[in-house]
Order: sequence, then C-alpha cells, then structure tokens
Amino acid sequence: VRKLCALCSTRRPILVRPKTAQRLCKECFYHVFETEIHHTITSNKLFSRGDKVAIGASGGKDSTVLAHIMKTLNERYNYGLDLYLLSVDEGIKGYRDDSLETVKRNETQYAIPLTIVSYESLYRGWTMDRIVSAQGTAKNSCTYCGVFRRQALDRGAAQLGIAHIVTGHNADDMAETVLMNLLRGDVARLGRCTEILTKGEDGDDGVRRSKPFKYAYEKEIVMYAHFKKLDYFSTECTYSPDAFRGTARALIKDLEAVRPSAILDIIHSGEAFHLDEKTQKALPKQGTCERCGYMTSGEVCKACVLLEGLEKGMP
Ligand code: SF4
Ligand code: ZN
Repeated sequence: VRKLCALCSTRRPILVRPKTAQRLCKECFYHVFETEIHHTITSNKLFSRGDKVAIGASGGKDSTVLAHIMKTLNERYNYGLDLYLLSVDEGIKGYRDDSLETVKRNETQYAIPLTIVSYESLYRGWTMDRIVSAQGTAKNSCTYCGVFRRQALDRGAAQLGIAHIVTGHNADDMAETVLMNLLRGDVARLGRCTEILTKGEDGDDGVRRSKPFKYAYEKEIVMYAHFKKLDYFSTECTYSPDAFRGTARALIKDLEAVRPSAILDIIHSGEAFHLDEKTQKALPKQGTCERCGYMTSGEVCKACVLLEGLEKGMP
C-alpha cells in the first residue's frame, strides 16, 4: 500500500515537512504553512482593518514569500489591509541592482505598488560600494548597512504615510539572534529580540515593525517558494557577511539537523528572557537625534555617528 498524505489521506505526499517531519502533499503543505502564518498574525493582533502596511522587500526568498503570503491572506481572510512594497537600494553593484529588478517584477506579479529608497539619496551619496572603497575593506560593511537600512525603511514608510512595516525575518534568523545575544551577554537585547511586534521606539507615532514569519522555518520558506515557482533572487551579497553571525547560523543548522525543534526551542528560551515593564522603563529613554531628527537614545543617532566617521575619513 502506498502511503498517503498525513493530513488529507487522499493525495500522494511529495515532501517531508521540516518542522514536523510529516509527509505531505503540495496542497496540504501550502495550507498548513499559510494557516500558521495567519494564526501568528491574528493571535498577536498584528494588524487592524484599514492599516497601510509596507512589506520590506529585498527580492530574496523570505520577503518574496512574505509578499505572496500577505497578498494571499489579505484576500482570503479579508484583512482589509492596504499593501505596499518598500525596498532599500544600498548601492551594491552586481547584487542589489539585480535583486531590485526582481522586486520590480514582483510589483507587477502581485499588483502591489513599489517604492525604492536609496542610501545614496538618504546618506549624502554614501552607497555601500563607496563606504567599502573608502574603508578599503568590506569587514564592517554589515554594521553600516544594518544601521542605515533600519532608518531607510522607516523614512521610506514615513514618506508614504505608512505606520507599519513587515519584514521577512524567519525562525532561523530569530534563533540566530537569540544565540548571538546570549553569547554576547547582551541581556537587554536578548529580552527584546524575540518580540514579534515592536512599537516605534519614539512612542506611539513611531513606525511599528512586525515579523509574521517569526515561527516559519527557513527550509519551509524555501520549499514554498520552490513549489509555488515564485520569482526571487538567490545570490548572496558581495560583501562578506558578519563572521559571528555566520558561525551562529552554522550552529543553528547543525542543531536543526539532529533536532528539528531546536529552532523553536531557542526562540521559546529567548521569549523567557522578556523584560518586565519595570525593567524596560529603566532602560535609556528615546529622544531625537540633534542632527537628523531620527529617534535615538543618545544625542546623535547611530547613522549620523557613522556618517561623521566616514566623512572624517576614518572608520
Ligand atoms: Fe548589507 Fe551586509 Fe546585507 Fe550585504 S550582507 S546587504 S553589506 S547587511
Ligand atoms: Zn494532503
């Protein structure tokens, strides 16, 4: 007797679900994957009807699947959301210029309007290519890029009058971040990094950010994109990724291989470090940067500090 799909018992299974090891047919895999995301969205009350939501879109697998799923769920469950694609052009030749072409095709495929904001225009001409050549090394590129991207997305959303950004961060990314904060002894970040929804750091008028894929395994996102034949870009960034993150990533993959639930277990452990309200209030208060007006806990925001360093010609 040929085994049938573990969920519908009618169709032949064509895949083994990484999260549960169930043998499923394509249709049942789509259904459980989409329904889990829907459940994550509703149980955490991520959106309200009428919200304008920007999908942080890089053209990579995570954000492409996110755009597809947001559109699908918005229609299927009638969320009543107004969706936008928001991309950041970091100015990396041979990488971001190509991946942005993918996002432009996604704009047409999903009929979601796209806005692109660039480092070049936001940061006085400092593209990542220019930063790396001025520094003579790509070693710290992700540090600059991370700080700049966060602000760029916020600014792009503000331009569009959007108060909520969803990003494609998946369970593997989150487990990685938990592990890194644990290994660094950064208890404050450890307490915050598993939050699915962060309110704008400068209070109620700040941009909200959420991660609907918080519990979605990277392997399943890849499978979904593959079976649905989604149009995404899979080349890696030309600049060397953070070595510490790379090591944490490799460790998570090894753990997953021997114990698939390890990814969720690490996230749950991280959640247990969540800070209570009293401790949170004792953390530095957010104000605004005296140069650019962006939120910061100091006098000058991190992007302005980095820009000043670049313009003085030192890292
Ligand atoms: Fe930027 Fe680093 Fe990502 Fe490249 S890998 S896009 S430099 S954050
Ligand atoms: Zn089935």
